[in-house]
Amino acid sequence: MATPCPGPARIRAVSGPRISIVGGGAAGFFAAITAAESRRDAVITIHEQGPQVLAKVRISGGGRCNVTNACFEVRELVSRYPRGSQALIGALHRFQPRDTVAWFAARGVELKTEPDGRMFPTTDTSRTIIDCLVQSAETAGVRCVLNRGVRAVSRVASGGFQLTLSNGESWGADKVLLATGGCRSVVQARLAEDLGHVVEPPVPSLFAFDLAGGWLRDLAGVAVDPVEVSIPGTRLKERGPMMVTHRGVSGPAILRLSAWGARVLQERGYTFPLRIDWLPLLGEAGLNDAFEARRREQGAKLLVNAPIAPLTNRLWERLVLATGLAREARWASLTKEARLKLARQVRETEVMVSGKSLNQDEFVTCGGVRLSEVDFKRMESRVCPGLHFAGELLDIDGITGGFNFQCAWTTGWIAGHAMAV
Ligand SMILES: Cc1cc2nc3c(=O)[nH]c(=O)nc-3n(C[C@H](O)[C@H](O)[C@H](O)COP(=O)(O)OP(=O)(O)OC[C@H]3O[C@@H](n4cnc5c(N)ncnc54)[C@H](O)[C@@H]3O)c2cc1C
Repeated sequence: MATPCPGPARIRAVSGPRISIVGGGAAGFFAAITAAESRRDAVITIHEQGPQVLAKVRISGGGRCNVTNACFEVRELVSRYPRGSQALIGALHRFQPRDTVAWFAARGVELKTEPDGRMFPTTDTSRTIIDCLVQSAETAGVRCVLNRGVRAVSRVASGGFQLTLSNGESWGADKVLLATGGCRSVVQARLAEDLGHVVEPPVPSLFAFDLAGGWLRDLAGVAVDPVEVSIPGTRLKERGPMMVTHRGVSGPAILRLSAWGARVLQERGYTFPLRIDWLPLLGEAGLNDAFEARRREQGAKLLVNAPIAPLTNRLWERLVLATGLAREARWASLTKEARLKLARQVRETEVMVSGKSLNQDEFVTCGGVRLSEVDFKRMESRVCPGLHFAGELLDIDGITGGFNFQCAWTTGWIAGHAMAV
């Protein structure tokens, strides 16, 4: 027997469409609630393969759930999606972060904005978001079945679909939403492929870089904001905070670089040179001026003891030594050639990346259902009418900051409405 969860569902009239939602994550719940609230006679079932729903929401944002981002201009918003930005323009005009904030507020959940734009529940716990979604689904009469993966979905000649569940049961539906999350494995892509869709191969996005070795790895704990990081031979370049970890480098600038470069970095086997400008706000001329001022005003000081702000003593010392300058060198004795070498080191430190580490706070998969095969006005398949998609299963992914959940809310909301009509 299937297990009703998480609580007793309200009894609904059975005259409306039977809607099956495959996947009890953020996108599946948002779609189910939207459909149930728009169409009171629909019979809506969430099929979840795991023992609990919304598992990723629970661990998201370090347990606080970064629900969305206070970026309310759609044109600017779509620039945060390395893949899927064009397809999302129309969708975000219909349901954007402002609507997410209002949606949760209408259900008693207030969000707060951090200085970098990330939005979290004021309670600082993802439990608030889970409780809100579960309660809203229950109130709307959504039925949720746990521990029942959907193994196969096939079209029925007379109309609608037949689902085969993990316990061998068959389940009939008029409309189906696939919201199974990122295609981390071939199996996860199969449901969509069997219904005629092309799935772009999955590769990780939002990861930190491991370094092969070298002096930078000795500086674990050092953080600089901003740096400019780039990958020679590509157009990949990002500016923002970066920290040195015991394995390599991480932080927003690195995660964004990994998102934009997800495919090309995978093709390179995650082995590539990384260039770091430690003082991007100064530029070449500004750095020269800063060196000149040091020489004039603090000439007697050891180079290693007089860093250029905001670089820390520890980092600055390693930069000086990595340039090949002596620990005893003083600012006054710095030749023009040495100055140029030091400037190059500060602006173009090159380190070798030798692998990737998954980001613990947020990681997503690049790849998924090919977007040209989906009508974004309804989040419906162009290949198989009645089949809908939402969330990370699509070939859409955002940079870190709440953009991935926003995609789940937006596509779930549109799919929910479309399935209800
Ligand atoms: C550690 C971590 C932290 C994150 N933090 C954030 C954050 O703070 N902000 C943000 O914007 N994004 C964050 N993300 C990304 C975000 O969690 C995802 O983009 C989002 O959860 C996608 O929602 P979804 O509903 O599409 O998929 P999921 O949340 O993955 O849900 C899919 C569900 O489908 C189920 N399922 C899969 N296959 C089947 C099947 N065959 N039958 C039945 N059920 C099935 C799965 O068990 C799962 O419950 C984070 C990701 C991770 C891994």
